[in-house]
Amino acid sequence: MEKTPLETLIFEQSQAGRRAETLPRPNVPLKPLESLVPQGYLRQKPPALPEVSELEVMRHFVRLSHLNHSIDTGFYPLGSCTMKYNPKVNDAMAALEGFRELHPLQPVDQVQGALELIYKLERAISQVVGLPAVTLQPAAGAHGEMTGLLLIKAYFEAKGETKRKKVIVPDTAHGTNPATAALCGFEVVEIKSNARGLVDLESLKAVLGPDTAAIMLTNPNTLGLFEEEIMDVQRLVHEAGGLLYYDGANLNAIMGLVRPGDMGFDVCHLNLHKTFSTPHGGGGPGGCAVACRDILEPFLPKPVVQKTGEAYDLCWDRPQSIGKVKGFYGNFGILVRAYAYILAHGKEGLCQVSRDAILNANYLKHKLSRHFTVAFGQPCMHEFVLSGVRQKERGVSTAHMAKRLLDFGVHAPTVYFPLVVPEAMMIEPTETESKEVLDRFAEIMIKIDQESIDDPEKVKNAPYNTPVGKLDEAMAARKPNLRWEPSLD
Ligand SMILES: *Cc1c(COP(=O)(O)O)cnc(C)c1O
Repeated sequence: MEKTPLETLIFEQSQAGRRAETLPRPNVPLKPLESLVPQGYLRQKPPALPEVSELEVMRHFVRLSHLNHSIDTGFYPLGSCTMKYNPKVNDAMAALEGFRELHPLQPVDQVQGALELIYKLERAISQVVGLPAVTLQPAAGAHGEMTGLLLIKAYFEAKGETKRKKVIVPDTAHGTNPATAALCGFEVVEIKSNARGLVDLESLKAVLGPDTAAIMLTNPNTLGLFEEEIMDVQRLVHEAGGLLYYDGANLNAIMGLVRPGDMGFDVCHLNLHKTFSTPHGGGGPGGCAVACRDILEPFLPKPVVQKTGEAYDLCWDRPQSIGKVKGFYGNFGILVRAYAYILAHGKEGLCQVSRDAILNANYLKHKLSRHFTVAFGQPCMHEFVLSGVRQKERGVSTAHMAKRLLDFGVHAPTVYFPLVVPEAMMIEPTETESKEVLDRFAEIMIKIDQESIDDPEKVKNAPYNTPVGKLDEAMAARKPNLRWEPSLD
């Protein structure tokens, strides 16, 4: 049988003596290797590497890249991830020589442009979230949560309120929230959502007290629903002496519409690699902003970028700072992308991003609502959650449908999260997709629903068109097969 492209490994194309490299001839006399490397460290045999031509290498890697689903090749409705299109101009800005060639150990008078960018991005983010102070040091969302909770911890320690050990999280929270709280040494207290998927004020009151350090919320929450009683929530928490942490990993729903600072939050983080457009999802570098109220500002990581007259400087004299949370000043290339994105959109543009993200989600939710159970009926923000319970009764689970979607060239939505919805499918279309793409996605989902009635086996055995079929996920996690083993003879 003919091999699939995945199976034609480059090692198997190897032909003795074929070479891909074309290195220039050195213009210095070569010394024998033995005179440079001690004998014991030298290989006895050449490594078992594939011997292939440049063209074969090129074809191999381009073919591999085509096996991946990506936002540049198809729709990606992955809830809570904001997998939107990232304009290529942002990458071009990050690649400008004056940014790309910088070294983090250069003296400040040589990196004024970079410091100015950090300073101005901090100011822009401060305006977007309505909180005065910002750090751009953390490398990703969960890292920003840790930074924010360390600020809270340092604040209470400085006040001598050492009994505040509890962090409240709703049952819909992103998994990183309770994990971060536990990592920072807090005790996690979970509260149940009410019948409308929102924070239940009575449950909140029952757990608030002199041991409350903070509540971690995201608004809209992970069900895509706006916490309408947020002003009551913030009043209750503040009256109990606690602080409010806003998980702004995805800010797509609210930019220019409402600000965490105005909702009473004391500290928040933003994933620059979600809303502020850095390609993500493949484990590449992220970036994060943490913004806070004045009372937490003295504790921010150091150094802090300062502006005196027209000059920018790094201030290290921050006696109450929690210290550094990352080497140097954050993932600078990501900061350039975020700044380019914000400048390209401007105030009105960012507002329009959120309006379109909300419109797209509500449009899709409406189109799918006759065929799938909608977890919560009220209008959603930038994402919504369906439940596959009806299809499950026909023997077709959400996992089956997620696999079947792949046959149509669409990435699956987030599934089985949030945990409070059975057979959950969490869909975030984002603002960058056209009506035609949304219509096509709805058509595919409705077709799969129809298949669950007419031919459930077809859905259950999917996918059929992907480079690899259904994987044994438990086995893949326990015994990952990550590399080709050469036969060493
Ligand atoms: C993505 C996400 C996070 C975590 O961000 P990372 O950059 O992956 O660490 C936290 N909270 C929410 C709501 C998210 O969607």
